[in-house]
Amino acid sequence: MKSINIKDMNMGTTLNGFKHAFVKRVLSPSKKYKKLLDQSQWWSKNELQYYQLQQLKRLINLAWNYVPYYRGAMQVFNVKPEDFGSLDDLALMPFVEKDIIRRRGEELVSTKSTQMALYQCHTSGTTGTPLTIYRDLRNIGFEYAMLSRQREWAGLQPGDRCATLKGELFPATNIQKGVYWDLNIAENKLVMSSYHLAERTVDRYIDAFDKYRPRAIDGYPSSIYALAKFMLDRDIIIPMKAVLTSSETLAPEQKEVIEQAFACRVFDYYGMAERVAAIHTCEHGRYHVVPEYSIVEFVRNGNLADGYFEIVGTALNNDAMPLIRYRVGDIARVSQGSCTCGREYPVVDAIVGRTDDYVVTPSGKLVGRLDHIFKGARNLIQAQIYQPNRQRIVLRVVPDRTFTKKDGERILQKLHERVGDGVNCEIEYVPYIARTRRGKIKSVISEVEIFNHCTEEDPR
Ligand SMILES: [Zn+2]
Repeated sequence: MKSINIKDMNMGTTLNGFKHAFVKRVLSPSKKYKKLLDQSQWWSKNELQYYQLQQLKRLINLAWNYVPYYRGAMQVFNVKPEDFGSLDDLALMPFVEKDIIRRRGEELVSTKSTQMALYQCHTSGTTGTPLTIYRDLRNIGFEYAMLSRQREWAGLQPGDRCATLKGELFPATNIQKGVYWDLNIAENKLVMSSYHLAERTVDRYIDAFDKYRPRAIDGYPSSIYALAKFMLDRDIIIPMKAVLTSSETLAPEQKEVIEQAFACRVFDYYGMAERVAAIHTCEHGRYHVVPEYSIVEFVRNGNLADGYFEIVGTALNNDAMPLIRYRVGDIARVSQGSCTCGREYPVVDAIVGRTDDYVVTPSGKLVGRLDHIFKGARNLIQAQIYQPNRQRIVLRVVPDRTFTKKDGERILQKLHERVGDGVNCEIEYVPYIARTRRGKIKSVISEVEIFNHCTEEDPR
């Protein structure tokens, strides 16, 4: 391992890394699933559907026998495990909303799981109480195998060092010394803080890249974009094998700037703490639904324009808390086409963000894809659209040194064109955009209620 500076290290990060690596690589059945996924990526559509049906039957039996919430729901809806003869029969089950997890989460945990074998994680929503999700080793192993396969698609070797730029917290002693990263030797990672990345600290980050030479970088698109932007402003390009983004919607503008700064392709991953859908890009840049991971339904919603659907997912690999027909609250633009990579996985044109990435006009029209207003605006570092009510939208902008009043007016004009008259649009210059608990940035925050939830009866 090249020039590790022990002074930069905090053993906690590496010890944590050993713990994670042990769970993922030794305790979980990740090797078995990697073998399966290496083969199944080349299965025909029929073979994939057959696999999904077998897994669905297994899941429904588990839900009926061991999950109190589903036992009750199936009794209310008069559904039995033997009713599931095809994938279409999934529609016999009711949708599950976030609110059900919030109120009745414990009843969604399988009584077959032993407390010892449960791993807890939480959703990171900016509003409302975070949800607690339980996972088991099967889920951890499957996900690790799936992400390992995407790294292979991205051209990475198992030993390649990766830098991560996510919402990691570091000891104050490191930060005071101007060390905004730590080394995780167990997983060969250079773990960097997204909280401290700014114009005045960026040279330290670039020095760390120089010193530890990662071959790839993974993290939040907003953080990697900010880093890429600072680098390009300094005429610095650091070639990598790949950049892997996740956890936030990747805007086309961000992708372009990141690919330029790191002279490689961006591989995006879409997933969520509830683990009911995995959609990620292949070597050809198209988004694929991973059908072995879950059954994803694209559901019509009257509030959305043609071609846009709500993502509803059924987890095939989490026996601890099997979520069936879970409404994630995200929207995708679905494609009818196929991909030239040869895999028969369903193709999605784009994940266009959460249902709450929309603003609402006074007439009730939903306006999404607002990232387009930033097209061509390369001299801003971060931005956020905030809608306090139907009549007002505030555009929060972190400008760089070359940002002019005219640039601001141009963006405001584009915003105005999209939301129409009757909405007051204004710009607010801020030194930074507040991040969520996990250090993410939400591109749109609207305080206006958009959807009527619970379109189906709640089976209490
Ligand atoms: Zn493909």
